[in-house]
Amino acid sequence: MSGYFDYNATCPLHPAAREAWLETSERFWQNPSSLYREAGAARQRLEDYREEAAMRLGCEAEEMVFLSGATEANNAVIAHAAAAGWERIAVSAVEHPCVLEPAEALFPGKLLLVPVGPDGRVDLEALEAILREHRPSLVAVMAANNETGILQPWQEARQLCEKHGALFHCDAAQWIGKLKPDGLGECDFLTGSAHKFGGPKGIGFLKVPGQGRPLRWLRGGPQEERRRAGTENLPGIAAMMAAWAARETDLESAARTGLAGRQGFEEKIRQVLPEGQIIGADAPRLWNTVLLTVPAPANLKWLTRLSARGFAVSTGSACSRGAGASEVLRAMGVAEAAQGQVLRLSAGWSTTAEDWLALAEALAAVREQLSGH
Ligand code: PLP
Repeated sequence: MSGYFDYNATCPLHPAAREAWLETSERFWQNPSSLYREAGAARQRLEDYREEAAMRLGCEAEEMVFLSGATEANNAVIAHAAAAGWERIAVSAVEHPCVLEPAEALFPGKLLLVPVGPDGRVDLEALEAILREHRPSLVAVMAANNETGILQPWQEARQLCEKHGALFHCDAAQWIGKLKPDGLGECDFLTGSAHKFGGPKGIGFLKVPGQGRPLRWLRGGPQEERRRAGTENLPGIAAMMAAWAARETDLESAARTGLAGRQGFEEKIRQVLPEGQIIGADAPRLWNTVLLTVPAPANLKWLTRLSARGFAVSTGSACSRGAGASEVLRAMGVAEAAQGQVLRLSAGWSTTAEDWLALAEALAAVREQLSGH
């Protein structure tokens, strides 16, 4: 695993998550909606996990909806806005495609894009001007960007929304498990995804406001207070909660050692690959992420050579739309040509400073190999 630098795409399953999944599948496999005693025990577990998730975020258990992950959660929020008949919504220009695409589809011609500065952070003055002039009912600003790792000023954005009477949605898929969740529970809507922090794929949560129009997402059975029909994925929820608990216990030390490793890498890169540029170098970023531009040839060649050397990296977000083009980089004003030159390097909780240095050396060796390509 030491060469795996694609944690922002997904993570290996945490051993505690695996154990929780197996235990729950064996002991609590009954349908939590059934009425006999054993099913009641499954239901109780489900509600205990809901309490625990709410406790971690600092919100109420009734506000937590379990669903399949951040894509579903973000789609549910935008669909809710459309179903409520809200005139306008605003989303940051660097949101994940699972916010941008439904927003474009459901609010054609009425979607307001909140720009980011050259540092990749949402422009709060522009946000306030949008709130004043256009009065959107909902604003979405993510917590941490999946491509660049840049931390967004979501706390300030949330306060501006409160001041101007708009609801605030925050996609925290890349934040949870990496940084403290303090204050996230104050967002009206909040998205999280288990596989981004060591839980299984296909499980996540959405925090919704306790008051106001109730969310009606998937229709069918009465699960999740009719907000999201479908038999609950209790083993997945148990595994997600186990991974989350494990991450929260050593969050600060992981962030500290992770940051030191990343900084060591960045220093080394300045020596061995001086043409390389770190996107958002001066902005606050996730401790695990570096978006690096490399010289010609195009990033895919670099990725292949690195892969042959045992390093797994990405050419940007696994989910960015279309080859080479990145909405995030475009929003930051990065030239189109440079967009095909980026490598996203995202480490994990057990990545060491040595692993980072080995990656820097591999990049230098690949540069040698590819020079005069
Ligand atoms: N939002 C962000 C910021 C992400 O990084 C991702 C994953 O790439 C998603 C949403 C989608 O998450 P999921 O895989 O749970 O649907």
